[in-house]
Order: sequence, then structure tokens, then C-alpha cells
Amino acid sequence: MSTVAGNRSWMHFRSGANTKDSSENETIDFWLAKLAKKRALKDTANKDLFRHTFDSLAGIYGLLTANDKFLADQQSASAINLVAKKGGTGKKNKVWIIGAHYDTVESSPGANDNASGLSVMIEVMRQVSGHKWFDEIWFVAFDMEEAGLLGSKAFVQHLAIEDRERIVGMINLDMLGGITETPNSQSIPPGFEEAFPGIVDAVKEDENRGDFSVVVANDAAFNMITSLNEQMYEIAPDLKSAMIVLSKEGEQINELRRSDHASFWDMGLPALHIGDGADTRNSFYHSERDVPANVSTEHLGKIARVLVGFLMKNAGPIPDGGG
Ligand SMILES: [Zn+2]
Repeated sequence: MSTVAGNRSWMHFRSGANTKDSSENETIDFWLAKLAKKRALKDTANKDLFRHTFDSLAGIYGLLTANDKFLADQQSASAINLVAKKGGTGKKNKVWIIGAHYDTVESSPGANDNASGLSVMIEVMRQVSGHKWFDEIWFVAFDMEEAGLLGSKAFVQHLAIEDRERIVGMINLDMLGGITETPNSQSIPPGFEEAFPGIVDAVKEDENRGDFSVVVANDAAFNMITSLNEQMYEIAPDLKSAMIVLSKEGEQINELRRSDHASFWDMGLPALHIGDGADTRNSFYHSERDVPANVSTEHLGKIARVLVGFLMKNAGPIPDGGG
């Protein structure tokens, strides 16, 4: 890969206090353990169980739900994206989307891929439900991500034009908890040295530890990633993250298009992805060893807190008594 003009990236290695909320981490531990189950195409019972759980949670938290069905392949008509909606005061509301896929590859319980993303999404849902909002917040559990982003592709194509125009930002959560402080646990993907020299230098200086989040935005989401960055400083100052803004829709760097955010990028919508280093870091990637013991729930808690801070800053929470 040659040097990519126009990309911006920076690395923040931070230090500071971690204000841990114990009830939040109990919730995340609970959901991670409960949701780490095989949900490949053939695991229909486990998939149905998740759909039921998602619907129940939306009910408990007072969210409206919708199903977005699509044909996954010629044999199966059962692929479904699940949507739960909070907030909104009128027909022209802005829409924020938090997304995480709920399918797994075959034979993997998918604790990190992607019960980690689901657990954070559920925790954000729980915290968001305690407020009223001017903007709409949609929580979307995507199906069939592992088969080539099929669920998110169907989702963006099925959107009515007037709904698509209301989307001001999408945040994708996929593989968040593969965090390790072991030196030399993080490898550098081909081409990254040239494309993101500042980040690669910082990782090397830190003995190639895989202990940071990776946040990737398209150009349209520049303001989003800037705001998320600020929330990280404020809310979780000890969270390490590599921040990347790609010019255009990231088509130059396939390594950074490997989850559902890319479907939004391809529609020109502002979207960012939060993840860990995936298989550049974790030996358990897509294996039977993708179990909760290999996932840092403390890290998941920090990300959930930052996301709630982001929504509080950007999605128009209505003050108590404000309507
Ligand atoms: Zn995934």
C-alpha cells in the first residue's frame, strides 16, 4: 500500500483516574456471559433466543422496536436486523445509530465477536433509558455480519430516503474487549507503517502492547470522532485509543472496512467504528476460545460510559421537567 494522502490519525496514551461504576460493570459482566453463544446461520434456536432477549430489554427500557428482515441466502429467510428506538420529539428528528452485530462465525461462542459489542450497546441502552431526548437514538443489532456485512447492507438499503437523511451519525461496536498488556501482543498490519506512522511509532514505543481501542471514522464523521475523543479525555482518561479519520470512505484500506460501519460509509453517511485489534492482536479470533475470560469487561465499561457521555453531549437530552 502506498501512502494515503488526506488521512488523519493520532494516538492518545493517557493516564489518569478511572472512575469505576460497579453496577455498570456487573451489568456488562452479566450480558457478556449470557450472550456469548454460537449464533451462526444454523444456530437458529440461539438466534431466536437473542431476538427475544433484545425485544424484552427494549420493552423494559421503554424503547419502540422494529424488525428489518432480509433474505440471507436462497435457503434461509430468517435473517433479521433488530431495531430499538429511544427519544425523538417530532417528525424531523436527527437520528443517532448505535450498532453491533449479533451473529457469530460457526463454532465460536463469540464472546468478543460480538457479545462484547452487544453488552456495551445494552449498557448504553440502559443508561440512555433514564433520560428524555430531542434526537432519536436507534440501537440496531445486525444479523449476518460475518457473511459479508449482509445485515447492515440490507439495513441501509431498506431505509426510506427521508429516514436516511435524518441520520447524523452511526457508531459501530465490534470486538471491543481484546485488551492485553503483554508486550509484543500487537502486530502491525501491512501498509499501516506508511499510512499511520504516528500511531505505529507510539505502539512500538509501548513495546507493541495490544492494550488500546481502535477508533476509525470516515471524513463525514470527523466532528463525531473529535467529540468522542473529548469524551474519552473527560470520562475515561486512562483509556488508550488509536484515532483514525479516513479520507473518502476508506476504500484504500480494507483492513479498516471489516465491519458494519462500512455499509454506512458506502452510503456516504457519517459513521465510526470502535474495536480492538481483532486478529492483529488476538489468537482467539473466530475460534472456540473466544470466551468471556479473554474479554476485558473493565474496558467495556469505560467505552459504555464514554458513549453515554457522547450522547449526552450530542443527542439533545431533555432536562428533567423539560418535556
Ligand atoms: Zn465481529
